[in-house]
Parts: sequence; C-alpha cells; structure tokens
Amino acid sequence: MSGSLFADASKRLEEALKHVKITEDAAEHLKYPKASLQVSIPVRMDNGALKIFQGYRVRYDDTRGPTKGGIRYHPNVCMDEVQSLAFWMTFKCAVLDLPFGGAKGGITLDPKQLSKFELERLSRGYIDAIADFIGPNVDIPAPDVQTNQLIMGWMMDQYNIIQRQITPAVITGKPLSMGGSLGRDTATGMGAYYVIETLMPQFKPVREITTVAVQGFGNVGAVVADLLCEAGYKVVAVSDSKGGIYAKQGLDIKSLIQFKQSTRDFKAVYCQDSVCNIVEHELITNEQLLALDVDILIPAALENQITKKNAHTIQAKYIVEAANGPITPEADLILNQKGTLIFPDILANAGGVTVSYFEWVQNRSGLYWTLDEVNSRLKQKMVNETNQIWAIAQKLSISMRTAAYVHSLNRISEAIDAKGTRD
Ligand code: GLU
Repeated sequence: MSGSLFADASKRLEEALKHVKITEDAAEHLKYPKASLQVSIPVRMDNGALKIFQGYRVRYDDTRGPTKGGIRYHPNVCMDEVQSLAFWMTFKCAVLDLPFGGAKGGITLDPKQLSKFELERLSRGYIDAIADFIGPNVDIPAPDVQTNQLIMGWMMDQYNIIQRQITPAVITGKPLSMGGSLGRDTATGMGAYYVIETLMPQFKPVREITTVAVQGFGNVGAVVADLLCEAGYKVVAVSDSKGGIYAKQGLDIKSLIQFKQSTRDFKAVYCQDSVCNIVEHELITNEQLLALDVDILIPAALENQITKKNAHTIQAKYIVEAANGPITPEADLILNQKGTLIFPDILANAGGVTVSYFEWVQNRSGLYWTLDEVNSRLKQKMVNETNQIWAIAQKLSISMRTAAYVHSLNRISEAIDAKGTRD
C-alpha cells in the first residue's frame, strides 16, 4: 500500500507507537479496518437514463463504541481515501474521549452535476445499499465534504422507511426539525477556534496583530474565519476551490459570507469590492494563499494540500488543520524542521464529531439542549483535550500530532485490552 493515502495515515500511527507502550495485540488490531463495503448505487437520472454510482463505507474500529464518521461526495472518493478517513475518525473520537469508534463513507461523484432530485435519489439509494452496515448502535454517519443537513435528512428518512420506525440516532447533522442539534452546523469551525484560543495566547497574545489565512470557505473554513474575525484576529486571506482573495489590512468576513452565499464565487467579490468594504484587495490562487506570510494558516478544505513539493514555501508559524489530512508525512518533516507548529486534524477539526455525539445523546434521551448548553460543552471538551495534548507534547518533546495520537492510543488500547482475546 505504499504511496497510498492510507499508507501515509499509518505512518502517523507508527511514529506515535515509538512513544507509547501498548500491547502487541492492540497495535496489530489497529493496522486493519474492521469492515469495508463497496456498493453500486443505481440512479434513474432526470433524462430517463440509468446511471450507476460507486459508494463506500468503512468501519475502522469499534472497540470504544459504535463507529462514527461522515459521508463525502467528491469525484476523488475511493476506497483508499474512505479507509484513511475512517482511520482518522477512530483516533479523533478517542482524542475527544467520545464513546465511538471510527468510520467514514463516500460516493464518487461531483454533486454539482446532479439535479436536486437526482441527488435525493442517489442519497436514498446509498442508504438502501448500506442499511445493514449502519445503525444507532453500530455505525452512525454524518455530513462531510459536499454533504449537508438536507442530505442527512433524506438519508435518515430512507433508513426509517427501511426499518419501519423513526430512528433519529442513526445519523447526525440532520435538520433541526428532524432531530438535529443546535450548533452542529458551526461545530467544526467553532472547535478549531477553541483550539486556537487555547494555544495561541502563549505565543502571540495580541489578536489584532495576529494574521490568518484560511483555505476553504465552506462549512468549516467560513465559520472559523468568521469567529476569528469577530474575536479581533486579522483574517487577511480566504479561498474556495476556484481561488482566493487577499487584503493586507484584513477582510470583512461577514460580508464575504453573505456574498459567497449569493454568488458562490470570489471573482464576483473582487469585482464589487464596495459591497465588502474591502480596499486594495487582490485575487490569489490556492497555492499563493498557502505560501502567504501570515501567523496562522488554516487549511480547511481537502487532504494533501501541503506536500513535500510546497512545504518549503510555507511561511506561517502555526498551522491549524481544520481539514482532514491536509499535510502529508513528508511535508510534516519539512515543517517540523522549520519549527512550524501544527495543531493536528484529529484535534483541530474534532468539534464536528463532538457535537454529533451531543446530537446522538439528545436523540437517545429525547431531551434537547439549548445552543448555549451545546457550545459550552463543546468548549469544555475542546479546551480540556487541547491542554492535555499540549502537556503530552511538552513532556515527551514530540509534535502535537504525535502527542494527539499518543493520547488517543492510550484510550483505544486500554479498551482493546479490556475486551480480552477474541481472535
Ligand atoms: N465529517 C466530520 C469529520 O470528519 C464529522 C463526522 C461526524 O460528525 O460524525 O470529523
């Protein structure tokens, strides 16, 4: 599997194993996914033609509880990617001490090419195909790249039809009217924000002179950019898949969000700067954004954005991995040598799955929380685990990434050993 995303993901585990004592049984157990499923999903397109899509679901490890993880719609989705994302979810859930293992799913497609009705038929077809593989006590999907509340709602409804009972806890990130949780839509960005707020004051206490660039302006990037801007940080650049916008004196993120919602394109922002109160801004590429001379760089899009090819161009002192796997292991080495401090994905973007857990708890208890309750519990968890990981990194003189793996490995291996032999 060398050269694959999963081989890269496993390298992080191997590195952590040097710093933590776990049994050989536990280490062996964590090398392989528990179960992987690939399905063909037939969809009747609007023009009457039948099209078959490829779907995946991987349950990596369920020792700590039912598996948990999102569903991604993207043209690059493949088994290697889904398996890697399921692996990361296993450690992410353990980092936050959630009673879950890790899973991930996805369908290979460009959702922008489908009509709303085609997308609904595809999403329901996916659940038809994986219904026996998921369940509120087995595996609980959620949104990920290019999936959202609407899609989670269709999926839950399809599961209910198959089961002939209402089962809100089978999926999280649902619409509020179907049992979703307040605060779930902003949770990943907010979690990243709490990690930054916990760690940054010791390095750069004055927010107003702390510059930030955010790659990705979706559900995660836009939220974290907005929160940082509101807190006083100087967010100087943001981008989407088509390109980005840079303004030395800082961007007005709120109006950019409004603008993006209506135009879906930063080019339009560029042409109509008065609406955004932006003076002297310029259009930049994603590659240029990553190389900006800023304090904090936040990759909030897809994996493999910082590789050995562009790692040497990175000028930011702090990188917050709001995306899953944005930095390759080779790039990690280069950045570590440069002294760049990386706040790792399995901590920095864990806010989403944490509020997914809160949603699952609410669905099972039938008692729904206020937004303040959700956000204060999220804050408590993020701050607490961030401090613990920072302490491990200091104590063992290791990167925060390795410290996060050490922290989660301790919890996972304890559960594997507690279960005893079942070979
Ligand atoms: N897709 C998100 C992630 O990568 C959330 C998963 C979930 O809520 O289960 O963490």
